[in-house]
Amino acid sequence: VDHELDYPKSPSAMDWSFHYPQYFSYPDQAEPLPGQNTKKVEWADVGCGFGGLLMALAPMFPDTLMLGMEIRTSVTKYVTDRIAATRQSQSLLPSESSEKKPGEYQNVSVIRANAMKHITNFFDKGQLSKIFFLFPDPHFKNRKQKARIITPGLLAEYAYVLKPGGILYTVTDVKDLHDWMAHHLNNHPLFIPIPNSELEDDPILEAARTSTEEGKKVERNKGDKWVACFRRAENPQ
Ligand code: SAM
Repeated sequence: VDHELDYPKSPSAMDWSFHYPQYFSYPDQAEPLPGQNTKKVEWADVGCGFGGLLMALAPMFPDTLMLGMEIRTSVTKYVTDRIAATRQSQSLLPSESSEKKPGEYQNVSVIRANAMKHITNFFDKGQLSKIFFLFPDPHFKNRKQKARIITPGLLAEYAYVLKPGGILYTVTDVKDLHDWMAHHLNNHPLFIPIPNSELEDDPILEAARTSTEEGKKVERNKGDKWVACFRRAENPQ
């Protein structure tokens, strides 16, 4: 049923083998293969929609595990199928050796989740090095404050899962939403604004601005995009 969500009691209870079979051993597997169970998910795309960012970044950073979190069942299924189909078509390409080659999309997955409620069920303290909020909250103005994806309370949770030095990216075409997100992030002691000029040549920010389905739509309509990025501060002593 649509309103029922599966989530682990704690991050250690999460079985990632379904999502990243090359990287995690199955619960009934006798022994992990070489290299299995040595990595963790490092990047999260919150409200990933149809998965455009993940599909762009996965082959660019083949050794980084990345996860989309999406609340809509049908959209999550679409992204799941998209990843499976891409993995399969990549595996059919001729390869020179049996070595795992980059670009097999084994490092990308999606999960149906309410990131506003359960992000700390999936990720440990300081586990993530990047977290993306791309074109979130289209109905920003009509939403009650506490239903918004960035609130002072939720920023504490996002700061918890983000490691010191990690980056939180926001992109939106809604100026009021940009002002709201930037205001709360600027006022949070654990987030330090990164000047846009500093990220000008960052291919990840470029992908965040341009590779999602919503970002492409805004481009087609010649709309504005507002970017605000923040570095997770060191933990206070
Ligand atoms: N980031 C994508 C893009 O740029 O194309 C999708 C943008 S879309 C406007 C916002 C997405 O966030 C929707 O797919 C929606 O279902 C999802 N979403 C909203 N609230 C969410 C939540 N609490 N947890 C996970 N996903 C959520």
